Amino acid sequence: MHVYIVMGVSGVGKTTIGKLLAERFCVPFFDADDFHPLRNVEKMKKGIPLEDEDRKIWLQTLSEKIQEWNMKRGAVLACSALKEKYREQLQSIPKNDISWIFLHSEYEIILERLSSRKNHYFKPELLESQYTTLQIPQYGIHVNVNTSIENIVKQIMQKLDKESRKSKIGLMGLGVMGKSLAVNLASKGVTVSVYNRHVENLEVDIARKFAEKHRENYHFSGFDDLKLFVESLESPRNILLMVNAGKAVDLVIESLLPMLQKNDLIIDGGNSHYKDTARREKFLKEKGILFMGTGVSGGEEGALKGPSIMPGGSSEAYERVGDFLERIAAKDKQGNPCCAYVGPDGAGHFVKMVHNGIEYGEMQLIAEVYHFLRFHAQSTPEEIATLFELWNAEMQSYLLEISIDILRTKENGESLIDKILDAAKQKGTGGWSTNAALELGVPLDTITAAVMARNISGKKEERIAAEEHYNSLASKNDISEAFSEELFEAYKAASIINHAIGFDLIKEAGKEYDWNLNLSEIARIWTNGCIIRSAFMEDLVELLKESSEGNVLMHPKISEVLEEDWKPLSGTVGRALENGYPVPVLSSAANYFLSFTSGQSSANMIQAQRDYFGAHTYERTDKPRGKFFHTQWKPIKE
Ligand code: NDP
Repeated sequence: MHVYIVMGVSGVGKTTIGKLLAERFCVPFFDADDFHPLRNVEKMKKGIPLEDEDRKIWLQTLSEKIQEWNMKRGAVLACSALKEKYREQLQSIPKNDISWIFLHSEYEIILERLSSRKNHYFKPELLESQYTTLQIPQYGIHVNVNTSIENIVKQIMQKLDKESRKSKIGLMGLGVMGKSLAVNLASKGVTVSVYNRHVENLEVDIARKFAEKHRENYHFSGFDDLKLFVESLESPRNILLMVNAGKAVDLVIESLLPMLQKNDLIIDGGNSHYKDTARREKFLKEKGILFMGTGVSGGEEGALKGPSIMPGGSSEAYERVGDFLERIAAKDKQGNPCCAYVGPDGAGHFVKMVHNGIEYGEMQLIAEVYHFLRFHAQSTPEEIATLFELWNAEMQSYLLEISIDILRTKENGESLIDKILDAAKQKGTGGWSTNAALELGVPLDTITAAVMARNISGKKEERIAAEEHYNSLASKNDISEAFSEELFEAYKAASIINHAIGFDLIKEAGKEYDWNLNLSEIARIWTNGCIIRSAFMEDLVELLKESSEGNVLMHPKISEVLEEDWKPLSGTVGRALENGYPVPVLSSAANYFLSFTSGQSSANMIQAQRDYFGAHTYERTDKPRGKFFHTQWKPIKE
């Protein structure tokens, strides 16, 4: 239910108008003055102006009352609320649903009104100080009371009606994701204004055409005029950006800023870098604007039917828009939304970045297995699809599922996959994960190998020349049923290791940046809607509850699988390399696993070498940790 606050200086008619409005809305009327502690009432009676400290408890009481009225029938409250600070306090409980009605007139008119009043403890001399204190709100409904009471009420009703037609959320950028998310929001009962920039002869009337296209089912207000778009939104405003990550986000924020007011919220739903997000949040906070960097996964279809959503940034803002985001998100097996507040500043985008990193690893794994089967075993795409289908009965992986579809897609009777150029593109999130891992000193073998595999795939011409130069190392041969079973176990093991590596990076970042991340909850919001959803992700929800501090690979259920699957993994890697087929992610998974499980690593040699040429010192196995030694390995000749 809604609470209307009728505000303005004393004598402006808050009580009279407020009571009439309450009658119209059939809700109770309250006068904020009735909630003053006795001490404040005494002060006012004596004509002593109240200090902000006097108002603190009073405003706190009122904000709790507003929450209570919101949960019941709604209410009309008459309250001077002259300063923005007071209004912020009244609004301090984020879910408080308030409409501001600001009554105003010239000082002389109100002074005359007050002077003719009897039996009221307000002294007209205080009016001047009220006008000095008044900070006119930059939002809400403004009505000049220098007219009849009927006319004032009529104007308020008309303006409220117009206000009620304002949209709850504004979406900027009607590209692939923006269009789908707009329809998803509208289908869940959220009123949406959409905006797309106007580019002469190129991008013309995009938003209006979009609104027109959907007119039968949904009402969208479409704009290519930024000011009108912003004005079409309910205050405080919620604006979702679905524009390309990078410079475009800064440009859009810059253009929005002059039109925004305190407490408005910008949600960046694109794949922005987490450091940009942290920077933007800090910058906007200084201007009183809320900001949320929010990862969205699921591609075009997910955005339309229910993506996985990873909101980060202001938790206060999440209180306000969490309901909309949860409504449009996919649902997990228990029916809970695949959307949960991740953590402050760049946490949402960091987690989305690692999601994509894991996705890079999973995609490359499937690609490696496909490549070996297609070119070494010379299986047809249809045969590989059939095999993958068998595997997917257990894996329930979205990426395996789409790979089956891809392998079965024909063009003019021939497999389309055979006609697709083997040079992969990327937008950056995989590489960003590697950079983050380097900064944090965390191993990221499989994800990095997948990024590098895309990089080398881009060198198509060089690869062709090298293949001729080396007279192709790749051999062809049938594979046995036993080997194809081994291949499955190897794929499964590498996939587990790839996930463990990704979650390890998230865990370390959470510690470093003090984000207080809940790994199990992150796995839960990835169980549906997103690209890396799978049966294993479902398992991870429980496993991570039990081993949130350690590495997933140490969980007894995982070690049971890996103890069985280690041989198939190392065997597959060996066989692929022997036969001339690169398996960068399979082999880096195997190497990571061996490194992770080796009590004795090779790094004693590295430390010795570092100390030899650079006097970098080393720790000793026969001395306590933390003590450093240097050896003069060879006398330096002058
Ligand atoms: P598109 O390229 O399809 O759309 C980008 C939108 O941004 C267009 O509406 C474009 O307007 C607008 N835009 C670009 N530059 C500016 C600018 N300077 N000022 C105003 N508007 C601008 O991208 P997507 O919808 O695919 O992606 C949007 C974001 O979501 C990206 O960050 C992307 O990484 C992320 N994402 C994408 C996924 C996908 O599967 N596609 C999945 C998850 C996240 P115009 O039409 O005028 O060019």
